[in-house]
Amino acid sequence: MTTTAEDLQSIRENVRALCKDFPDTYWRETDKKGAYPQDFVRALTESGYLAVLIPEEYGGSGLGITEAGVILEEINHSGGNSGACHAQMYTMGTLLRHGSEEQKRRYLPAIAKGELRLQAFAVTEPNAGSETTRIETRAVRKGDHYVVNGQKIFISRAQQSDLMLLLARTTPYGDVQDKTQGISVFIVDMREVKGKLQIRPLDLMVNHHTNTIFLEDVEIPASSLIGEEGKGFRYIIDGWNAERILVASEAIGDGHWFVQRASSYARERVVFGRPIGANQGVQFPIAKAYAHVEAADLMRFQAAEKFDRNEKCGAEANLAKLLASEAAWEAADVCLSTYGGYGFACDYDVERKFRETRLLTVAPVNNNLILAFLGQNVLKMPKSY
Ligand SMILES: Cc1cc2nc3c(=O)[nH]c(=O)nc-3n(C[C@H](O)[C@H](O)[C@H](O)COP(=O)(O)OP(=O)(O)OC[C@H]3O[C@@H](n4cnc5c(N)ncnc54)[C@H](O)[C@@H]3O)c2cc1C
Repeated sequence: MTTTAEDLQSIRENVRALCKDFPDTYWRETDKKGAYPQDFVRALTESGYLAVLIPEEYGGSGLGITEAGVILEEINHSGGNSGACHAQMYTMGTLLRHGSEEQKRRYLPAIAKGELRLQAFAVTEPNAGSETTRIETRAVRKGDHYVVNGQKIFISRAQQSDLMLLLARTTPYGDVQDKTQGISVFIVDMREVKGKLQIRPLDLMVNHHTNTIFLEDVEIPASSLIGEEGKGFRYIIDGWNAERILVASEAIGDGHWFVQRASSYARERVVFGRPIGANQGVQFPIAKAYAHVEAADLMRFQAAEKFDRNEKCGAEANLAKLLASEAAWEAADVCLSTYGGYGFACDYDVERKFRETRLLTVAPVNNNLILAFLGQNVLKMPKSY
């Protein structure tokens, strides 16, 4: 299905209209209470916009990363935080490309209808960090099930999800020649597991519902395995470009929010008898941040369009993630400076968005790793790892 510029504009307007029901006060209160924005996620699910990547035959709208990105962008541009539900889009590719027909029929229509939530993606571990191949969580096949033992850290929304995509080693690191082998990916129905699955919330600077997860003799059916055993790292990597483009889109939304708030405040706030925005020391940094957000936006669309045409887009997806998260962070810093002391006052929402957008330079992948990809894979310099 091809989306025209008009279709894209109409998606933007519809998402904007939906977000109007969730104003600054909604997100501020949610953040203050450390609550999950349940009503917002429900509204987005009911609108069908959370299921745009699910093909029509499974109850979604079968759209591409371009459209999905625009949806997340508009949520963040409205002042909201798409981090509350973006994982459903981040993880979709693994299930769509590598899941069995049985898995797709079982989960996708229910996810599209909002009856099942796929909001958790468990990759990171304390002893592995960015070096994903070093994960130690083990899944051992025993007849018709796997027994999983290990620990995950920084796993978001595990308590707000029914399903969790889990990465575990089915062959230990020391027993494989190629370190990317021996890792498997599972779709785990957390409501049905046997054994001890413990989810402990982490206290973080952002309202992201992030947890440590302990798995002790957790039994999952063998049918939870996605694709072939031992090939999971490849499946996850296949999804990385989509994830990077989606994160870039969220950052673009944040960047525009900061630029708009900063320029509007700079027009209105009068000090020394004139609007502060008349001073070039205030005006130019906002204009510069705007230029950087707009430039990153071009790279985001270039990456998204290539992705949706099934063309290689590793360089563009990584560039988009880097440029957009840095541009958003620059815009956040400029916005905070423009607001002066008021930037620190929770009622203006700048400090909340400031914290939220900073995350995008670190998770789901750190910008250093993005630079390493560009340096090593695009510019062919030596590997650091
Ligand atoms: C709020 C939040 C939510 C998250 N949600 C999830 C989630 O849902 N699921 C999930 O699996 N993970 C999640 N994460 C984890 C996140 O993806 C990781 O924190 C991130 O990938 C970095 O890993 P690390 O924190 O272990 O950093 P480390 O790998 O310990 O790295 C620390 C620093 O060293 C740098 N570094 C390491 N190696 C190199 C190198 N070779 N060259 C240059 N620099 C290097 C890194 O870039 C980083 O700056 C979340 C994190 C946060 C903060």
